[in-house]
Amino acid sequence: MRPTGPRPDTVGPDSGPEPPYPAQLSGEVIAGFGRGSKELGIPTANIPTEGLPTFIESGIYYGWAGLKTKDCGSSSDKGDGIFPMVMSVGWNPFYKNEVRSVEVHIIHKFPQDFYGSHLNLLIMGYIRPEFDYVSKEALIEDINKDIDIALKSLERGPYAAIREDPYLVTFPEKS
Ligand code: ADP
Ligand code: MG
Repeated sequence: MRPTGPRPDTVGPDSGPEPPYPAQLSGEVIAGFGRGSKELGIPTANIPTEGLPTFIESGIYYGWAGLKTKDCGSSSDKGDGIFPMVMSVGWNPFYKNEVRSVEVHIIHKFPQDFYGSHLNLLIMGYIRPEFDYVSKEALIEDINKDIDIALKSLERGPYAAIREDPYLVTFPEKS
């Protein structure tokens, strides 16, 4: 169950991420399992679990995301960039909870969906384990707090500097 009481404002050492962080993960945005994340106001871009570092257990993480939207021939700004993110690693109910899932909420408002786009992640740290929620409101409240914690944590100098890491903007030739 979800513990009660105050949550911290930041997570991880102020001096910067310590190994195994920052951890790299990249992949193409795939269709999720329609849990209705978007209906909660918190869409999550699902990516394949291949390449997920083995030390990453189920739970909520935070970090930086580099997004390159799939080129659909339109020249208008579709939202490419580097953004803060929160990431949930869990078990996919679609596969009887035998297969893991990675879902990334990018902390940015996008003009449209970006399925098929490429996502590079630098996971900067762990926020909390996953809980069973008694209500949708309690879940949303916790996710909003995760977002606050991620933003505050990434504001710290050593974490902010990693936003410039070339890994975030290194994409496959043709996506
Ligand atoms: P699914 O079950 O297919 O993952 P969601 O309801 O979780 O559906 O919505 C996820 C999709 O919403 C992403 O694949 C992406 O195309 C889009 N999206 C729009 N804004 C965001 C955002 N800020 N963070 C993550 N995904 C977003
Ligand atoms: Mg999703």
